[in-house]
Amino acid sequence: MTDIAVIGAGMAGLICAQQLTQAGYSVRVIDKSRGIGGRVATRRLFDTKADHGACYLQPQGEVLQSLIALLVEKGDLELWTDNLQVQEKSSSQKVNISSSLAYIAPGGMNVIAKFLAQGLEIHRNQLINSISISSANQWHLTSNYSDEFTASSVVVAIPAPQAVILLKPLAENLLDNDFLTKLRGVEFYPCITVMAGYGDSSVKLPEWKAIAFKDNSILRWIGLDSSKRKNPPQPHFVIHSSADFAQTYFESQDLQSVGQDILQNAGYTLNLQWLNNPEWIQVHRWRYAFPKTSLEQSLLAAETSLPLVCCGDWCGGNLIYSAIVSGIAAAEYINSKLKQRKLPGIDFLNAL
Ligand SMILES: Cc1cc2nc3c(=O)[nH]c(=O)nc-3n(C[C@H](O)[C@H](O)[C@H](O)COP(=O)(O)OP(=O)(O)OC[C@H]3O[C@@H](n4cnc5c(N)ncnc54)[C@H](O)[C@@H]3O)c2cc1C
Repeated sequence: MTDIAVIGAGMAGLICAQQLTQAGYSVRVIDKSRGIGGRVATRRLFDTKADHGACYLQPQGEVLQSLIALLVEKGDLELWTDNLQVQEKSSSQKVNISSSLAYIAPGGMNVIAKFLAQGLEIHRNQLINSISISSANQWHLTSNYSDEFTASSVVVAIPAPQAVILLKPLAENLLDNDFLTKLRGVEFYPCITVMAGYGDSSVKLPEWKAIAFKDNSILRWIGLDSSKRKNPPQPHFVIHSSADFAQTYFESQDLQSVGQDILQNAGYTLNLQWLNNPEWIQVHRWRYAFPKTSLEQSLLAAETSLPLVCCGDWCGGNLIYSAIVSGIAAAEYINSKLKQRKLPGIDFLNAL
């Protein structure tokens, strides 16, 4: 029997689990994926790596600033650029947003999740698909492999639309209307991400490292991902599509062609036609990439007899920063319902 089951090993779930574990609670983190980090995701490919989820960290708020400082000191993070650029649809001009510091991990952004996962009990490859209160008055969770978990409290640290699917069966008799209305009101944008590598050594690489596109119907962001790596074997880019484009082509059977269309459009928009001829290309679909509407609160608690709280980036924002703040708030909420111990707060970093 566990004190707390945390569903989701993204930034919110990991930070929440660290707070509670370090306060002496027994905590199990359960994630449907093989890896951890959720949307802070890195893929190994062709002797290199690419961040196909979160692109970089920006120092915001005390906890994130301290996390960045610590990981920079350890050599896991470094400053990538202080000069993020934005291109308007109507113009080929790129506007510099100076003093926007962007930190990246040469070993891949998911080193951040690995760092935060230290000392936690994590069950991977376990999609929680049912949750109920047992006759012994415990939360009872079942996974797709029929594994079972019991706990006296549950933290649901997953995107709101996935939480709706999971919690729907509880709705009839356990969940209050206000909770459900708020949860159902949170929508997410999808995104299609392309990773592409170039073997031709004669191509002239751009001087920029990343460009965000404003009001572009196809493109959202492009980054020279190989510039994040130490000694990259060849140049490679990561390109995120716009939400509109992803919505239209999300269910496409031929994802490679969809990826090729994104590349072609990026080549045309940036006047880098060679982008259209990669040596390799991989495409990833994010059904729940960015919150379209977020709650104006850092957690969403249900009025159940046993504690249950939802958290994630969609509670208060849409980036890693809000996921972290929300994960800490969820830990405080659970602690207030259990043994009211002293939580480490920002000091949790000292134990890692
Ligand atoms: C393409 C892209 C680029 C981005 N770029 C940036 C950026 O540059 N900077 C920035 O700050 N943010 C960026 N973000 C946003 C950032 O990645 C998220 O805000 C943050 O990672 C969200 O963390 P989370 O813990 O709330 O959710 P998630 O990372 O989504 O974690 C949820 C976890 O729950 C698991 N899960 C879901 N359902 C279940 C279930 N039923 N059972 C078990 N496990 C389950 C998932 O596998 C996942 O690991 C980007 C996101 C995307 C998609």
